[in-house]
Amino acid sequence: MHHFYYRNGELYAESVPVNEIAKAVGTPCYIYSHATLTRHFNIFNDAFSNIPHLICYSVKANSNLAILRLMARMGAGMDIVSGGELFCALKAGVSPDKIVFSGVGKTKEEIEYALKTGILMFNVESEQELEIIHSCAKALKKSAPIAIRVNPDIDPRTHPYISTGLKRDKFGIDINKAEVLYKRAASMPYLHVIGIDCHIGSQLTLLAPFLEAIKQIKDLYNALKKMGIRLNYIDIGGGLGIPYHEESPPHPYEYANAILELAKDMDCCLILEPGRVIVGNAGILLTKMLYFKKIEGKNFIIVDAGMNDLIRPSLYNAYHAIWPCSKRGRPSIVADIVGPICESGDFFARDREIETTYPGELLAIMSSGAYGFSMSSNYNSRPRPAEVLVKGERFWIIRDRESYENLISLNRIPQWLR
Ligand SMILES: *Cc1c(COP(=O)(O)O)cnc(C)c1O
Repeated sequence: MHHFYYRNGELYAESVPVNEIAKAVGTPCYIYSHATLTRHFNIFNDAFSNIPHLICYSVKANSNLAILRLMARMGAGMDIVSGGELFCALKAGVSPDKIVFSGVGKTKEEIEYALKTGILMFNVESEQELEIIHSCAKALKKSAPIAIRVNPDIDPRTHPYISTGLKRDKFGIDINKAEVLYKRAASMPYLHVIGIDCHIGSQLTLLAPFLEAIKQIKDLYNALKKMGIRLNYIDIGGGLGIPYHEESPPHPYEYANAILELAKDMDCCLILEPGRVIVGNAGILLTKMLYFKKIEGKNFIIVDAGMNDLIRPSLYNAYHAIWPCSKRGRPSIVADIVGPICESGDFFARDREIETTYPGELLAIMSSGAYGFSMSSNYNSRPRPAEVLVKGERFWIIRDRESYENLISLNRIPQWLR
């Protein structure tokens, strides 16, 4: 459920016609719906209300500061994967004791930054990382709170690029070797072992892989308890999918109830790291058609957004619905909807049936709120698009469109070339 809908054939974001936003802000631009964001967060949070829990919103899904601030105001903690995300989370007003730090390649500088900040816990992904965290903590005379990210070797049945819990994936530690590492961690004086962490992938549309993972975590939790290692946090990561096309992922209530059934007799605070399920359907990418072109009987609709703005179709062959911003009742055609970038992989849809559209008209690439702007780049020296937040009848620019000057501002020409 989101708040993008048609009224008299015109696409609205909440109570604002999107073409008004295009007039004011230009295209391409991302548009997010406040009502959708809050609704998704509250549903997810309420679904777990029966047990102690903390929702750590996954910053990488959408790291706009206004969105992080909104999440923080609703009580969210954050799951970060870099020093930059820690900085953004703090700027957004998230309390450090609600921040968990995931990621396979934390640098020493990032670890020190997080230790000085005093975050809730590090989700440790390797033995070497454990050693580095320990030595950093020792140098700073601090105790580092840690969980070990385990890899349960479960097929999440999602796109291979976003599967993270199979043995062949780079993430976590083989769950069968975890006990040894826990024992070692527990003996290190500057570490405080407080949790188990697991994140098996993204855009999961089945419950079974989550439940298999939790069963394994539970076994590990009980085994550690017997060894005298008592944990306070079970972090089961994010990954709940959303309907982009024909998927029918479990509702957050279904997801929560199944998890609660397994988790209730672990005497722990449950941590969840949802990203996509909160922001995915809360955003669209608005783009303008530039040209129509026919090659060898194939239709191309060329638009002013490109793979640098939204890379998911190019990277994962992901499906995004594409809606005309004005429904005019014209006959439909089958076309590839492509960007202006010099790559054949620069497409948003292939062989898509869509109402005939003419240059200058607007299209909305739906479900673009997650891994949209946050994965954007300046490829082809294209300034990144503006981001807009709609709330009721009003809207606010929450990130300016980049300028040409922005593109070169960090470049330096050596003296001998001047
Ligand atoms: C990406 C990621 C998430 C969020 O995944 P979603 O599929 O967006 O919910 C959560 N935890 C970790 C460790 C991640 O890498």
